[in-house]
Amino acid sequence: MCTKNIIYFEHYSNYVDKCGIMVFEGRPEEILEQEYRKFFETHGRSLETWKRAVQLTPLGVHSNYRLTRPFPVYFGKGEGAYLTDVDGRKYIDFNMGFGALVSGHSNKVIVQELISRIENSTIFGFEDEESLNAAELINERFGTEMVRFSTTGTEATMHALRIARGYTGKTKVLKFEGCYHGSNQDLLFSVKPKPDEAGEERRPRPVPAGLGIPDFMKQGIVISQFNDTASTEELLDEYGEDIAAVILEPFPMNMGVIIPDREFIAMLRRKCDSIGAVLIFDEVKTCGKFYGGAEEVLGVRPDMKILGKAIGGGIPVSAIAGSSEMLSNIGPGKIAHAGTFNSNPLAMAAVSVTLGNVLTRSAMRNAQLLSQELAKGYSDLMADRHLEFHVPVAGLSGAISFNHREPKNWREFLKGDVGKWNYYYIAMLNRGVIPAGPGADEQWTVSVMHSKEEIENTLEAFKDIVPSIGMNFPLLEVEESV
Ligand code: PMP
Repeated sequence: MCTKNIIYFEHYSNYVDKCGIMVFEGRPEEILEQEYRKFFETHGRSLETWKRAVQLTPLGVHSNYRLTRPFPVYFGKGEGAYLTDVDGRKYIDFNMGFGALVSGHSNKVIVQELISRIENSTIFGFEDEESLNAAELINERFGTEMVRFSTTGTEATMHALRIARGYTGKTKVLKFEGCYHGSNQDLLFSVKPKPDEAGEERRPRPVPAGLGIPDFMKQGIVISQFNDTASTEELLDEYGEDIAAVILEPFPMNMGVIIPDREFIAMLRRKCDSIGAVLIFDEVKTCGKFYGGAEEVLGVRPDMKILGKAIGGGIPVSAIAGSSEMLSNIGPGKIAHAGTFNSNPLAMAAVSVTLGNVLTRSAMRNAQLLSQELAKGYSDLMADRHLEFHVPVAGLSGAISFNHREPKNWREFLKGDVGKWNYYYIAMLNRGVIPAGPGADEQWTVSVMHSKEEIENTLEAFKDIVPSIGMNFPLLEVEESV
């Protein structure tokens, strides 16, 4: 292996032996180099595995989001709040399956339920009674009337747009710059656009997230700036007649953690009613951050909620939930919605036990308190170090943003110092903590299996690196991750 002062693989590319695009000089670079060197030395088996993987799989990963610097870590075991990698290193995990594991890794209550389920088949190809229980739990908790289950968040947002278009008879969808709704073709616009191609801040241009997205699809999309009430209202006035739906992450969590302005959300509800558009909350992430999802905090009820990740306790399942007025339009020859794996008994058992027995109000409250404690700990340790930082918290998630102000939208998020974030991330990995999802656009998730001990140990690790965080690390850009 190449051992020069070389840290990154070229775009962590397929050329795994071609190490070496950055030769570091100077103090911060040396510190960063030490961390990368340590990472290489202690992750030998992951590196070897990845070298094999790139021969079999594009970039060696099965989801572009899992392409991480300097190479992906391979894991073998998860238990509670911990993950162990193939080199035998144990980490406190705050990625928690990108927020899918609010229940914790292999939560015993869920495991027991799934084992007995597996013994009675995992797919009938017909309906089963458990889906009624799962749907009732969702309706009670999220204030909805009807539910259709799918398997992934991507599928659910895709179906939701079709339902909205079918219901309204209109075509366009308004989405916000920096929000991600899965690799759903309709919405793969302006996910992580670069400012020089994204147009005016208050009238962003739709920027496709990569190749293979036909240009004509731009006609189906209007892009607006999150939290910008005036410009969004203007766009909704202008395109109102054609707008079938407004879709948003109510607390955007694909640009760190963005706290929504209440008046902005209230305006979206009012405006959707006045122009006859469907308001969709993509709660694939937020449904697991607050007991009742974003509505509980924002006091605004959308027409449809897209649920995913956490509701399955680690088993793939998603749901489109909403008013019966909206969802009763689904049907053959009306609005299509189908899927071999929809509401399979394994997923239904997982939803029932996760929502019914594991993600209880008190367990989630406890995780939220720990999340606040983590945020306060990070902030206290960084105070008085002449650092520009913010630590926004939303329920049991939060993020460190090295930014002069707390970002309110994508353009502000881009002003953050990703170089500093990159140091924080690799240095924490080396100290046995996965501090958040892998990317400055991600956040931490505290599960119901984390305890004070993990928070204290995480802050102890952070204390060790905080003296170096003020340095000027090599600048990095936020990259397209999907
Ligand atoms: N919506 C949001 C808000 C998401 O964060 C994600 C995934 N991170 C998705 C949809 C897509 O979900 P999935 O990966 O299950 O397709």
